[in-house]
Amino acid sequence: MSLEERCNRILRDMEGSLTARDRVGIQDFVLLDAYTSESAFLDNLRKRFHENLIYTYIGTLLVSVNPYKDLGIYTKKQMDIYMGVNFFELPPHIYALADNVYRTMLTETNNHFILISGESGAGKTEASKKILQFYAVSCPSTKLLDNVRDRLLLSNPVLEAFGNAKTLKNDNSSRFGKYMDIQFDHVGGAVGGHILSYLLEKSRVVHQNHGERNFHIFYQLVEGGEEDMLHWLGLERNCQHYSYLVKVGEGESAKVRSINDKSDWKTVRKALSVIEFSESNIESLFAIIASVLHLGNVKFVADLLGYATLNNSPEIHWLSKLLGIPAQVILVGLTHRKIEARLEEVLSPFTIDHAVYARDALAKAIYGRTFTWLVNKLNESLANKDSSRKTVIGLLDIYGFEVFNVNSFEQFCINYCNEKLQQLFIQLTLKSEQEEYEMEGIEWEPVPYFNNKIICDLVEEKFKGIISVLDEECLRPGEATDMTFLEKLEEKMGGHPHFVTHKLADQKTRKTLERGDFRLLHYAGEVTYCVVGFLDKNNDLLYRNIKEVMRQSKNAIIKHCFPTTEPDSKKRPETVATQFKNSLVGLTEMLMSKEPWYVRCMKPNEGKEPGRFDDVLVRHQVKYLGLMEHLRVRRAGFAYRRRYEIFLQRYKPLCPDTWPSWKGTAAEGVECLIKHLGYKPDEYKMGRTKIFIRHPRTLFATEDAFEV
Ligand code: ATP
Ligand code: MG
Repeated sequence: MSLEERCNRILRDMEGSLTARDRVGIQDFVLLDAYTSESAFLDNLRKRFHENLIYTYIGTLLVSVNPYKDLGIYTKKQMDIYMGVNFFELPPHIYALADNVYRTMLTETNNHFILISGESGAGKTEASKKILQFYAVSCPSTKLLDNVRDRLLLSNPVLEAFGNAKTLKNDNSSRFGKYMDIQFDHVGGAVGGHILSYLLEKSRVVHQNHGERNFHIFYQLVEGGEEDMLHWLGLERNCQHYSYLVKVGEGESAKVRSINDKSDWKTVRKALSVIEFSESNIESLFAIIASVLHLGNVKFVADLLGYATLNNSPEIHWLSKLLGIPAQVILVGLTHRKIEARLEEVLSPFTIDHAVYARDALAKAIYGRTFTWLVNKLNESLANKDSSRKTVIGLLDIYGFEVFNVNSFEQFCINYCNEKLQQLFIQLTLKSEQEEYEMEGIEWEPVPYFNNKIICDLVEEKFKGIISVLDEECLRPGEATDMTFLEKLEEKMGGHPHFVTHKLADQKTRKTLERGDFRLLHYAGEVTYCVVGFLDKNNDLLYRNIKEVMRQSKNAIIKHCFPTTEPDSKKRPETVATQFKNSLVGLTEMLMSKEPWYVRCMKPNEGKEPGRFDDVLVRHQVKYLGLMEHLRVRRAGFAYRRRYEIFLQRYKPLCPDTWPSWKGTAAEGVECLIKHLGYKPDEYKMGRTKIFIRHPRTLFATEDAFEV
């Protein structure tokens, strides 16, 4: 296509004829003048949504609205269209963003990440899969690289089987956070990958809310597992039989219309083979999954003194067989704990409640540790064997903001994580962008925005934050309870504008709060948390003798997950919330060293329905995702900026005075270059170290000048 044709096309696409614009809206909010109010923003999104145009840009940020239907826009043909084409040349698409990130990484040889955010069910995981698929198809191909590509792609169904579950918000909800680095060599071949996982919601293994399910893998195995495999694992082909899968009286929730457990099982099995899990690894893995199901069916009976006893039931038989631990050892381990009395250790029997608690804690520990093992195993398989310099693109897909009728410790962690990501977005865009203009001496009218740092501090601040208070209470076993934790919070947080409880609330708000609740005013809205279980879940206690029992296992994975070298439980391990907090700090630091890109996913309605755009719901998301502020900064500011040296290096062939080399300073060279290219004064600004370009189309036309 000639430059003239391209320019015409850009003008047509970007400024559009009025009728077309009326119908399909505008594809980049930055480019047109009328779109500064929230209502106009919403109108544009709605218009486009009803035309099946789910993507819209704010500069290089991609807004995506979940269509809840197959739009046929993720085909190989579509990928070809978007490959190597300038970002703003075609209608917005996740492929355009993926391609732009990829090419920027190649030209600038630096590291990038794509932060995909939005609430549960908004389409984050789908977006991250589309990006990965795009790279799989568009990157250079060789036999070796194809192998890496297949492994990268197939790690997804495996991780989803073990880490995703049906919730009320999303039939395939990610119950762990995932950051994946894709590593590229200097010509852009995908040579490896690395996955970091964050806080798996282990409590789901033993308990699910009404209408929700356990992790997919359990149903896949029971529904899809081959006859001889089920026989070997001692499983019945009936989810209703397993109390961790079906609660009494709630039998209907095992099957989900949108999920085919049988065919998903086949996909996972195949993926495990391609990723080169050995047959013995696969056997050990499913022996563990089956063991968890058997464990859930273990029933305790009270003896005359009220202590828990166990018969040598079929469950114990299967546990013994699958984990390779003598039945008697399991029986004692599940009904006693070891305590130190004077200088010796004695076994103290559990009450029934205690035994059930210990059993569930064991099931959670087994599953959680196996998940960690799985991620490590995937990483071994994805590791790049060649140590030469690589650049990476990271994909961050973490559980979205969640509000249920009853919110617990898990929602507290998930929503805190979303606060941290919003803080990262603020720091990298709204804050740093405006600071950069100031630093570079560009005239600038500051755009106000809500900084959620105050909420992050409320949760995580040392000695003062909610996590600190929780940890303190966890240090007082026997004395502290969930309610004393709440009282401590009231003492310390009373008066904080983002924290309220029944006791602290005014009369009107009090009516909406129970006595065991605390409410946080998150950046994305209010969430009321019920304190029941906070201490337990934060402690995540596993009795020492149960660990010792597991250490006797002959199952290779369990052996690995319960090593004899594990630090002694006398030394206090970090609590769950503190571990999570530290891992998020690590994540943020790592991301800060990379160049950010954003995909903001939105949910059009709560009913998972195609074609329905709920104004109130979308408006709320536009608000809390900070899209209007981002737009304002973008509109008033500059879409692109480049250090003078980089800009000159890239474009100097376009001007006879700067080519092949320029003798003066880089800034002078750029000045000379853009004069030659005919930039108009309002199109750019010269900062102290960088050139700032207002519209992408200016840069785009400059890129095209290469082809003329
Ligand atoms: P969570 O935080 O719960 O993990 P999520 O944001 O990752 O949520 P997804 O699992 O990506 O949400 O999406 C939920 C469902 O929405 C998908 O299973 C799919 O049915 C539908 N969906 C999402 N994105 C698209 C899309 N681009 N095209 C068609 N359907 C989509
Ligand atoms: Mg997800």
